[in-house]
Amino acid sequence: MLNIEWSKLGFEYMPTACHIQFKFSKGKWDSGSLVKDPHVSLSVAAECLHYGQAIFEGLKAYRCKDGKVRVFRDIENIRRMNSSANYACMPEFPEEMFLEAVNKVIKANIEYTPPYGTGGALYLRPLMIGSGPIIGIAPSDEYIFLILATPVGPYYRGGIVGVNAMIFEDYDRAAPNGSGRYKLAGNYAASLKASKIAKAKGFPIVLYLDSKEHKYFDEFTSSNFFAVTKSGEYITPESKSILPSITNNSLIELANHLGIKATRRQIKFEEIETFAEVGACGTAVVITPVNAIQRGDKTYNFTSDKGVVIQKLYKALTDIQYGNTPDVFNWMRLIE
Ligand SMILES: *Cc1c(COP(=O)(O)O)cnc(C)c1O
Repeated sequence: MLNIEWSKLGFEYMPTACHIQFKFSKGKWDSGSLVKDPHVSLSVAAECLHYGQAIFEGLKAYRCKDGKVRVFRDIENIRRMNSSANYACMPEFPEEMFLEAVNKVIKANIEYTPPYGTGGALYLRPLMIGSGPIIGIAPSDEYIFLILATPVGPYYRGGIVGVNAMIFEDYDRAAPNGSGRYKLAGNYAASLKASKIAKAKGFPIVLYLDSKEHKYFDEFTSSNFFAVTKSGEYITPESKSILPSITNNSLIELANHLGIKATRRQIKFEEIETFAEVGACGTAVVITPVNAIQRGDKTYNFTSDKGVVIQKLYKALTDIQYGNTPDVFNWMRLIE
């Protein structure tokens, strides 16, 4: 038996039984294997180390109310990952092989899946890196694809807690025709500085406007932006430089299902006056309510952590994930 204090888990990496790893060379993927060693051996000239040819994903497997383990919408993760792969000139990873790899890595780490009721989950992190030794800038001809699994805890133990977000005028997340809509590792290296400055000022998250004009909302560093207007509508930005969040897509479907109008469109910054609730959404936290947005010397306040729409959507989505309510959208895949 493992000696894990489930109630103390945060969102941190813990080595587990194994990860699953595949290698690509001479134009094809091998059949993969479970690897106990949580280290990867690479050439000092590996493409990913110098030129950042690396993409990733994030998804969760849940121990449900009936005791079974299910993974949330993993087909969407491999589809998005293959779109990132295409952008970064990397080979696609076949969908069927991915689903099988997810099964294998979860089953091999099943005892690391937090029990039902703890609010935790087994976090899966697929990663693809260009591993070929290359000194001139060009796509690698060798790749490693792996999925690591690590248990994570709930973000909110005593109910949903709101945070304050900061908007910068002098840091952008993604160029208008750049890599913002792909989960490219380099996007996150480029975000560290702004996040560090914001944290030092007491803002746990950074909100980005469109980088061309700073007129429209884009998204947060690693989560999508949405607002609930004073008239009760869920709105979320339409933009070429934001990551298509699976959580956000799910919240839109849930909102419609619950009779809340949900729209994806360009959102002007001035519309901030019409927001009642603001949220950041993504796999890690589902929804982080944003109680204030700071831009320059102006602060805009919301009652997001008490927001009825945020609470309703948060509960509706997590109830499906933990199997408390029927999976009407067919989002959960049983691991057996
Ligand atoms: C991963 C990520 C998200 C959230 O996507 P989910 O599929 O909901 O986890 C949003 N924005 C950025 C920039 C991300 O990297």
